[in-house]
Amino acid sequence: MEICRSWVGGQSLPSTGERFPVVNPATGEVLTHAESATEETVAAAVESARAGQKVWAAMTGAERGRILRRAADLLRENNSELARLETLDTGKPLAETEAVDILSGADAVEYFGAVAANLNGESVDLGPQAFGYTRREPLGLTAGIGAWNYPIQIACWKSAPALACGNAMLFKPSEMTPLTAVHLARIYKQAGVPDGVFNVLQGAGDVGRMLVSEPAIRKVSLTGEVGTGRRVMAGAAETLKYVTLELGGKSPLIIFEDADIDNAVSAAMLANFYSAGEICSNGTRVFVHVSIRDRFLAALKERVEKIRVGEPLDPNTQMGSLISQSHMEKVLAYIEIGKQEGARLLTGGYRVQDGALARGAFVAPTVFADCVDEMRIMQEEIFGPVMAVADFVEEDEVIVRANATVFGLAAGVFSADLTRAHRVIHQLEAGTCWINTYNITPIELPFGGYKQSGLGRENSRLAVEHYTQVKSVYVALGGVDAPY
Ligand code: NDP
Repeated sequence: MEICRSWVGGQSLPSTGERFPVVNPATGEVLTHAESATEETVAAAVESARAGQKVWAAMTGAERGRILRRAADLLRENNSELARLETLDTGKPLAETEAVDILSGADAVEYFGAVAANLNGESVDLGPQAFGYTRREPLGLTAGIGAWNYPIQIACWKSAPALACGNAMLFKPSEMTPLTAVHLARIYKQAGVPDGVFNVLQGAGDVGRMLVSEPAIRKVSLTGEVGTGRRVMAGAAETLKYVTLELGGKSPLIIFEDADIDNAVSAAMLANFYSAGEICSNGTRVFVHVSIRDRFLAALKERVEKIRVGEPLDPNTQMGSLISQSHMEKVLAYIEIGKQEGARLLTGGYRVQDGALARGAFVAPTVFADCVDEMRIMQEEIFGPVMAVADFVEEDEVIVRANATVFGLAAGVFSADLTRAHRVIHQLEAGTCWINTYNITPIELPFGGYKQSGLGRENSRLAVEHYTQVKSVYVALGGVDAPY
């Protein structure tokens, strides 16, 4: 595989920056090296973005939209190749990356392609002598900084609305997963996006900091941990940038006694084991009504033990590797903490090391039962395949317990009584909620968190508000009435 470089001004740009290995976490194999951007790379990206953005913003929204829709088609056409790369880079099974990662990114690019042609201001009647109107204008240069769990999807979720609104974006993927963002850049170019409108800066947190402190950049959108969110927001304050923050979570999934148990088990598994649990919105605190607890746990254990953990490129694999050895150590440490805290280990709880899997970072899907709210495994984001199940008795009680966290990214409720489901959802402090399912994130619905899980929203028409600024224009139709 060729060296993975930054992409600036429509081409790969070599730099004198440090080279770091790109590792397949499922095998430990070094796939290639990536070359970190330097201050000079960022300066070149800013310059090309300035030039590209002028050309891009001068097009009509309909023209930009047509180009973005072409890019969405190209993403779909390249699904197999991109999914394979994403699997090599992240350790996620091909069964997932082929079905979700690239296609959900394409959905975003297509959706915002349609939005681009519909960016309207308002006309405001101000009486016979005047009227006003508003324009939604681009911010100019924007930055996107991604996490490693959904690399190309995050790059699409951030760049699609940014580009639709006529901005340029400088995107930094996580240093753990640098491969696919450059392919997205190539696809944008092939579709007709002018050079400089989408640049990729490779590197670690220091490159992210360069983007945050760059005065020419007007907005930064981060997906990452809460601590990184704080640092990015503090850094952005220096140059008064807009920020969108998509951060961590410890979301509740509440299962009432009248829930369909099979569906609730399916959702709890999706909420904890998809992408080996490396999903920000996961429902990692599963509250089950005490009257159905034993039936729920029995069905859950039976199905979790059938999950096929294996080689990510094997099409039959349902759960792959975690992102790295060090992340696996962190997840295994939390499993030990759960045991020491007295949670009952229902299943899993160990590293999977059968045959070739010993080279990777595989952890068995793990369920703890009899959890209590004070346990660290009920309070801290683990970001791995570890589900914590707790009992509850009363509706009011479970709402208070579900909300007793600094996070507020997502929440789910299972109940056959839809009146109750809505009543409970309306009281949960979370930005993204589900009734009788979990973790479905269609591009048409806003996505984002309450409390320390984030600021702003991605997806849906709401994203337009986060990538435009409003200009008010007052138009006088008569003379100027001056007192002097
Ligand atoms: P990190 O916060 O460690 O990193 C996120 C990105 O920020 C990376 O590209 C990182 O660079 C970069 N970065 C680190 N420090 C700085 C800084 N000071 N200034 C600018 N950029 C910086 O998160 P992870 O990559 O470990 O991702 C996991 C986290 O992301 C979890 O908490 C998860 O919940 C959250 N997440 C949230 C989602 C949401 O939509 N709400 C979705 C997915 C994940 P590098 O890593 O290359 O050093």
